Amino acid sequence: MKALVWLRNELRLKDNPLIDKACREAEEVLFFYCFDEQFYQNSAWGFPRTDSFRAQFIREALTDLQLQLKERSGVLQVRQGNTIQEIQKLSEEYHFDTIYCAAECTYEEQEQEKALEDQGFRLKRIWQSTIYHPKELPFDIVQLPKVFTAFRKKVEKYSPIRECIAAPAKIPFKKNLEPSPIPSLADLELEQKAREPRSALAFKGGETAAWERLDHYFWQADQLKTYKETRNGLIGADYSSKLSPWLAIGCISPQSIYWEIKKYEAEVKKNSSTYWLYFELMWRDFFRLSALKLGRHFFKVPRNYNPSTSKKFEAWCRGETGQDFVDANMRELRLSGFMSNRGRQNVASYLVKDLGQDWYLGAAWFESQLIDYDVCSNYGNWTYIAGIGNDPRENRWFNVKGQADRYDPNAEYRQLWLE
Ligand SMILES: Cc1cc2nc3c(=O)[nH]c(=O)nc-3n(C[C@H](O)[C@H](O)[C@H](O)COP(=O)(O)OP(=O)(O)OC[C@H]3O[C@@H](n4cnc5c(N)ncnc54)[C@H](O)[C@@H]3O)c2cc1C
Repeated sequence: MKALVWLRNELRLKDNPLIDKACREAEEVLFFYCFDEQFYQNSAWGFPRTDSFRAQFIREALTDLQLQLKERSGVLQVRQGNTIQEIQKLSEEYHFDTIYCAAECTYEEQEQEKALEDQGFRLKRIWQSTIYHPKELPFDIVQLPKVFTAFRKKVEKYSPIRECIAAPAKIPFKKNLEPSPIPSLADLELEQKAREPRSALAFKGGETAAWERLDHYFWQADQLKTYKETRNGLIGADYSSKLSPWLAIGCISPQSIYWEIKKYEAEVKKNSSTYWLYFELMWRDFFRLSALKLGRHFFKVPRNYNPSTSKKFEAWCRGETGQDFVDANMRELRLSGFMSNRGRQNVASYLVKDLGQDWYLGAAWFESQLIDYDVCSNYGNWTYIAGIGNDPRENRWFNVKGQADRYDPNAEYRQLWLE
């Protein structure tokens, strides 16, 4: 049997169940990734759905993966355009029988899967993106609690966490085929942006860089044991793990991080900080599993959404609202592709509750700009803050001035980004 492994947000070899399964079951395995045009077009409001920082990060992750595959006799073909058409072209050349792909939980990704099946392709979908596997939840997915705490208490008590799977030693692939070139930013019609020296971290895509970051944060800098005290920080590389960009495109699996926390607890220290990183990863699981449960309803964007932006929204995007804490955070996002969790909560609340703008405009801008954009974490957090998502509450409002006084008492963060 010949297999195509179609990669989207699982750009790693370690603990990758779809690669593992394909390599065990097929005689030949070819790898494929497409910069799909739908994710590179402009949003309804005129800015790119994927801007340069994230596109560059993905390019780096693919370069790393191509090298790792080459060491194992594997080949990754990278294309740009319409995924379905590109897979059709590839099938004419390579005649594969089965496509192995991740089981996704969001609408656009599932539509791609259905379109391939409609073309007669046989798909094997494999879940890979959460610590807790949907089949091992202590309830049926339709019974997933609406409130995070109820979810957390149940899974912690009753659900197993799978062991990690080793990277394949060798890829079964016999043809002498060169890996294809990776489209440049210019090919993707994106502008090359200079690395911002004030960035929290010089993010570099790829599985190798993901493990280097984990090694630094857990073992070299030994920051995990103080995570709970530092996680609301605003400046620097080590106030939080910064693993989100790699998690978002699957350069590292959440289980791998979980088991590394356990190792750290056994070898260095176990405390509320080590637990809290796992706690935050459960939030990630919660949004992803909520998307699986709710399908299109997860997004909550109204059918008659506002098709235009406004002066207030544009000022917010540029970091020119006049509210210095919001502006500093929004400039950090635009210039570096990253913003702390504290910053995200504040700017989101400010857009919706103080400026009275539609929450989904903010979600779309985050989708465009964030290097760690993750469809479930982004839309889940935005609807949560707007008070219409899980655990709906009208009064979820951040007093931005009070937050700035508390988390940036000497205005160092504001000075850094507003100078
Ligand atoms: C409005 C808004 C939009 C957001 N959009 C995204 C997004 O597109 N992609 C994204 O990965 N995160 C998003 N988050 C969640 C959170 O802000 C980031 O995950 C976090 O800041 C990333 O930095 P870190 O890796 O250092 O996090 P750490 O504090 O080190 O946390 C470790 C990991 O836990 C997960 N995590 C932490 N907080 C959350 C949370 N609130 N929701 C879900 N997962 C969480 C992330 O995977 C993170 O990498 C958003 C939050 C808000 C308020």
